[in-house]
Amino acid sequence: MCKVFGLPKLRTKAKFCAISSTSGTATEVTAFSIITDYQKGIKYPIADFEITPDVAIVDPELAHTMPKKLVAHTGMDAMTHAIEAYVSTANCAYTDPLAIHAIEMIMNTLVKSYNEDMDARDAMHDAQCLAGMAFSNALLGIVHSMAHKTGAAFADLGAHIIHGAANAMYLPKVIAYNAKDPVAKKRYGVIADYMHLGGSNDDEKVKLLIDYLRKMNDDLNIPHSINHYGPDGLPAEQGFVPEDVFLERLHDIAANAILDACTGSNPRQPSQEEMEKLLKCCYYDTEVDF
Ligand SMILES: [Zn+2]
Repeated sequence: MCKVFGLPKLRTKAKFCAISSTSGTATEVTAFSIITDYQKGIKYPIADFEITPDVAIVDPELAHTMPKKLVAHTGMDAMTHAIEAYVSTANCAYTDPLAIHAIEMIMNTLVKSYNEDMDARDAMHDAQCLAGMAFSNALLGIVHSMAHKTGAAFADLGAHIIHGAANAMYLPKVIAYNAKDPVAKKRYGVIADYMHLGGSNDDEKVKLLIDYLRKMNDDLNIPHSINHYGPDGLPAEQGFVPEDVFLERLHDIAANAILDACTGSNPRQPSQEEMEKLLKCCYYDTEVDF
């Protein structure tokens, strides 16, 4: 477990009971929290088992009143948690079954939940918790590094790139990038097999996985790229981040993303140049070929 910095010993008297009201972050079972520095426009993950709750109450009824957009964004956050945990360099025999089962459940229920099927929404509430149990131990990867560092980077323009939506847009690009690593490619192939996506070799399976996730974004009304990310998180012809502002801030965002706590367990360690290229692919929705 990597420790960004330690928290003092907590709860010598009090107990920490967490009740999740959305289906995505799984913060009720993880050692992670996020603090946003609005002045710098950066989100910092805090990691310490001192902030893992003693008791988690996962009551699906609380998720029934979620607005659709929240269902979509938190759901794709959970999908990203599970996929990043499965290919993380810190994965292990205990986290793999949780991650792979969460992926299968999210695949089968997220879009239905978005379309107001409450049985599916109940299942999603459990699936996101399983994904949380996986990534709390296996950690995450650069989809989260990029989401943390782009999330508030354009706040002065009047909007955030919402965490789950950022993950949903960046995940297919990062899969294409990580799949150049042979171990990660094989693991994406296993995910595709569990999802019954077909494909006769790992290259085909990776492609089918990317296509499937992009289709999920379409079904959930999530844009594919930053240039089409509207201020309300919905697809827009003209996104709220203008090209010149993006390019002007690209260097710093990439540098910050490399330093993010989630980068260490990613299957590939990107250079500054690669991270900038990857972020450009996420802005323009272009193919990742490096
Ligand atoms: Zn997340």
